[in-house]
Amino acid sequence: MSSSAQIGVTGLAVMGRNLARNFARNGYAVAVHNRTPARTHTLVEEFGHEGTFVAAETAKEFVAALERPRRLVIMVKAGEPTDAVIEEFAPLLEPGDMIIDGGNAHFADTRRREKALREQGIHFVGMGVSGGEEGALHGPSIMPGGPRESYDSLGPMLEKISAKAKDGSPCVTHVGPDGAGHFVKMVHNGIEYADMQLIGEAYQLLRDVAGYTPAQIAEIFRTWNTGRLDSYLIEITAEVLSHVDAATGKPFVDVVVDQAEQKGTGRWTVQIALDLGVPVSGIAEAVFARSLSGHAALREASRGLAGPKATPMSEAEAAAFADRVEQALYASKIVSYTQGFHEVAAGSEEYGWNIDLGAVSAIWRGGCIIRAAFLDRIRAAYDARADLPSLLSDETFAREIADAQDDWREVLIAATRQGVPTPGFAAALAYYDALRAERLPAALTQGQRDYFGAHTYRRTDRDGSFHTLWGGDR
Ligand code: NAP
Repeated sequence: MSSSAQIGVTGLAVMGRNLARNFARNGYAVAVHNRTPARTHTLVEEFGHEGTFVAAETAKEFVAALERPRRLVIMVKAGEPTDAVIEEFAPLLEPGDMIIDGGNAHFADTRRREKALREQGIHFVGMGVSGGEEGALHGPSIMPGGPRESYDSLGPMLEKISAKAKDGSPCVTHVGPDGAGHFVKMVHNGIEYADMQLIGEAYQLLRDVAGYTPAQIAEIFRTWNTGRLDSYLIEITAEVLSHVDAATGKPFVDVVVDQAEQKGTGRWTVQIALDLGVPVSGIAEAVFARSLSGHAALREASRGLAGPKATPMSEAEAAAFADRVEQALYASKIVSYTQGFHEVAAGSEEYGWNIDLGAVSAIWRGGCIIRAAFLDRIRAAYDARADLPSLLSDETFAREIADAQDDWREVLIAATRQGVPTPGFAAALAYYDALRAERLPAALTQGQRDYFGAHTYRRTDRDGSFHTLWGGDR
């Protein structure tokens, strides 16, 4: 077998197969391999006409098919399968070769793998890929980490297969060393959870408070999608809401079991945020909302609990309320991106990655699930000031929230009064109000800690640590 393939993909389930096709369609010769060879042959039989594929049955054949330095993309299940595949291929590689893990790996695993492979002279690139199977085929948003020099040879290929933003720039950049790419992909998914939760809350408010039907709400979302909320998730939400179940004739959304599932990247985002001490309350509420929805027995047992009755709205009131919900959704969205970017900045600081936040927002503008017009503005905010303490410190976002805040509060008052759960909207507003507060009750918390545990406190008027000799028996 001649060493003619410029890139190889092992793991040919939906993602790997489509990524391999994307490379081939862009003119690269692609070696393809899968643990179960049937998938490899199916790919070549079905899509061989799209470009140059070199089918390999064994690991040895696969490695031999690649030109040097070798570029070998792994698209298998994250976790142990990824380790198994690395263990299989690494002994067959030579210094300077590259293993690129495009799965949804935990960034800590990527750091461990990168370190171990570096000792063998192999470049390990942990590469976040977003956009699902369609994105993998037509252009995903790609978040590669790993050694800088690996990007010199890999980058141009990734730039070719990636999504392009509206201004034509490729949705890929070298995010930073070792686990930086997978870290950023993880936070991307966390933000995706928050976006979906906020959209879900907007839907429920429009339905339960304003009294709109799913079809009417789909139209409202379509209108919103022509404005500042223009995004992939708003667009598909309108599609899902207008979809009618063929079997029953009912709105599709009414025949789906209301228990949301999750694969884990949202949960990781929150777990890591807890470790880093970053308040990502909106993302956390989104993860918890999915967990709560899945507790069927608990929900069943709680159904009889008392709550307010919904008061119907007139048509004019409903329309005005929908405008307010748009304001609340937009303001909450600004907050969840603020929290997500804070986590990226904190991870970058902790691990010395030097991540460019403007570049991250730029590569999320196309291909990925959270792609949105809004990301252009985030990029502009970081381009104007790379050390922006928070997105809320950007004048434009601060002004927009100032304009939205009355409606945002009104929506939460209505939700509370009518008993519609809005944990995402509420957490976002609480975060905003906590950040702007002159004084927080944290001073009282410090007093309590000093009282029961002599944990000491700092004073506003003097430097140093203080402890009060609290009186009485405890
Ligand atoms: P998947 O269902 O996560 O994985 C199936 C692939 O893994 C098959 O090729 C399978 O080979 C291989 N595999 C499993 N265990 C293995 C082992 N021990 N040794 C060797 N190969 C093994 O496939 P996917 O949905 O295409 O996702 C691939 C990766 O991309 C995952 O890490 C996923 O998290 C990530 N990802 C997925 C999406 C998405 O939308 N699906 C989006 C972004 C990222 P066999 O055919 O032999 O079983």
